[in-house]
Amino acid sequence: MQTIVCRQPGELRRLERDPNQMGPGQALIRIRRIGVCGTDFHAFQGNQPYFTYPRVLGHELSGVIEAIDPDLRRGLQIGDVVAIVPYLHCGQCVACRQGKPNCCVHLEVFGVHCDGGMQETLAVPTTHLVKAEGLSLDQAAILEPLSIGAHAVRRAALKPGEVALVIGAGPIGLGVMALAHQRGAKILVIDGDADRLRFAQIWCPVEAALPAGDHPEDQLASLTQGDWPSVVFDATGNVQSMSQAVSYVAHGGRVVYVGLSQDTVCIADPLFHQREVTLLASRNATREDFATAHQAVRERQIASDAYISQKIPWDDLIEAFPALVAGQRQQVKTLIEV
Ligand SMILES: [Zn+2]
Ligand SMILES: [Zn+2]
Repeated sequence: MQTIVCRQPGELRRLERDPNQMGPGQALIRIRRIGVCGTDFHAFQGNQPYFTYPRVLGHELSGVIEAIDPDLRRGLQIGDVVAIVPYLHCGQCVACRQGKPNCCVHLEVFGVHCDGGMQETLAVPTTHLVKAEGLSLDQAAILEPLSIGAHAVRRAALKPGEVALVIGAGPIGLGVMALAHQRGAKILVIDGDADRLRFAQIWCPVEAALPAGDHPEDQLASLTQGDWPSVVFDATGNVQSMSQAVSYVAHGGRVVYVGLSQDTVCIADPLFHQREVTLLASRNATREDFATAHQAVRERQIASDAYISQKIPWDDLIEAFPALVAGQRQQVKTLIEV
């Protein structure tokens, strides 16, 4: 079985390994699409904290069921196209008991904590398969990054008519924007990159696209008749942006950190208290969020073709990867086609 392993930072290597076997309650998936994301780039560059090598990357996955445990099929059959929920949870910890497997104490993510999708097949619990039901392999592969946006929107308990500011118009921020718009929110977006702002306006109906660093306070106030956005999503993972986010939110509003940082975020307490801000972290996604993303793609509320910037054949992956890392801000989503 062909496998591409990240042996150490900067080194992807093609290896021949014994075929994967499936265990009880699992299905064997022939991997067909692998989305490449920031986590993979960080792992390749050697700046993903707590990452161990060697590791098979890839957590944004779609494929075809090749074999399945007959006792735990869950309505799935051999030959079905599926997306994979890549977050393996323990089912017993305090978070799992509360129905929050996305922040399980013992969470293992394919391609991060255990080997992921850059291999011919992957054994996956049948509980972690989402039937494509008419979605293409490409569309099924982007459900994972879009579900991160769906989760953030659900965390914020967004209501129709609210003004949502999304800071950061990368692949995750775009998902937040589209799913917040689907919920009936008015969307404002801030990004430091003019091309990304331009793309954001094509991607989703936005009320305004504001350049970061341009002191957008006056514009945010006037665009909201002095009320300010009632929800601010930060999808940058940048600590300066994350601390600044609190100064953009309405009194009584919510700030949701979608992007994550390894550094400490400092928040001005007078602002935080004066506005009685509710601060929320949003981590990964659940099956419910996959279902929300699935519905949005199915009903064409997500421009999935626009989201996929390019496709690279599996055979070119190793040679193409360094250029993908270098050009990551120019792409929304690159898919590896197997
Ligand atoms: Zn990802
Ligand atoms: Zn758990």
